[in-house]
Amino acid sequence: MVALDHSDIKTNNKKRVINLLSKERELTKLDISRKLDISVPTVTTIVGELKEDGIVEEAGMATSTGGRKPVIIRFLPDSRYSVGIYLGRDYVRAVLTNLDSKIIEDRKKDLIVITEREVLKVIKTLVEDLINSQDDIESKVLGIGLSLPGTVNEKELTLEVATNFRLKNISFKELHSYFNLPIFLENEANAGALAESKLGIARDLDNLIYVSVTEGIGGGIFINNDMYKGRDRRAGEIGHMCIAKNGRQCNCGRKGCWETYASSRALIKDYNEKSNEPVRNVDELIHKFKTEESTAVKVVSEYIDNLTEGILSLIFIFNPDYIIIGGDISKYSDVFSSELSSRIFCNNEFYKEGDVKILFSGLGNDSNILGAALVPVLNSFGFSNL
Ligand SMILES: [Zn+2]
Repeated sequence: MVALDHSDIKTNNKKRVINLLSKERELTKLDISRKLDISVPTVTTIVGELKEDGIVEEAGMATSTGGRKPVIIRFLPDSRYSVGIYLGRDYVRAVLTNLDSKIIEDRKKDLIVITEREVLKVIKTLVEDLINSQDDIESKVLGIGLSLPGTVNEKELTLEVATNFRLKNISFKELHSYFNLPIFLENEANAGALAESKLGIARDLDNLIYVSVTEGIGGGIFINNDMYKGRDRRAGEIGHMCIAKNGRQCNCGRKGCWETYASSRALIKDYNEKSNEPVRNVDELIHKFKTEESTAVKVVSEYIDNLTEGILSLIFIFNPDYIIIGGDISKYSDVFSSELSSRIFCNNEFYKEGDVKILFSGLGNDSNILGAALVPVLNSFGFSNL
């Protein structure tokens, strides 16, 4: 147990008050005092500070229970903002969110060439655009969170290894001095897992594995409500679990990695190798599947087998509450969900259907970027309020 000094307790109490108000939206000081077991004078001091910071306002009088009518304190979700960045294979997406993690502005820009300079230039343009999109918010932006497709070094602000991206060791340090804002890096699957655990279907669940199916496959691991990152913060590279010895060649240099069979790129590649009418993305392929085009039906069925292989391993290792599938296939739970469950839970002695819930992310393609935008908010206030 670590003893807290006076200022830690004060900061902690302030975060608890913000957290409570963000959930309840409107409360009196007495409500806050009772719910958090903090004295009324302390609550009064904290509320005074929050009012000065513009995070809460007074919103009229509550009905009296005898004596003076108490003042209602209202939480203001638009009092602070955060910026989330998603670095895709050939584009950058940037969003401005408020304290409710609601997307206020959304921008996307293609990368013309894949160089470190270009990536930074595009990010700067997009962030400037977002900040200028609202009147006078520069001082209200808490920071910039980046969701990146590979192993990140959060301290050094570098993307170290990204096997599906053509660059490595990209430094994002200059964004810090350029914008004079805190910069946070997060692996994209970890960012997705964070969003799911704080905002999505897995809210308040202790153990979940988030499987991000995009160009590759990444994993975000939440154990006992904490993100597990491993010794060198490289845990969760589940796309590189071998599911076929001497199998397909992977960008990482090894063979038979799960993502060479179960990423969205693998799904599209498998179809295009078998069909005379190639598709460009998962949406086009699923459209063909839904019209019962025979090659699409066959390829999707094989793909579900491939997805099953990796997910079963994750269940055996982690025994999670939930496996959440996000990314490019997440909006097609109608196509994948029941087939996937029946294959995962058939013929095994350990688990039956329902023991582990397999869900598709309700945040869809927004989960990674919302998770990224959430990091500066959690860093400032230690809460998520949806
Ligand atoms: Zn690999």
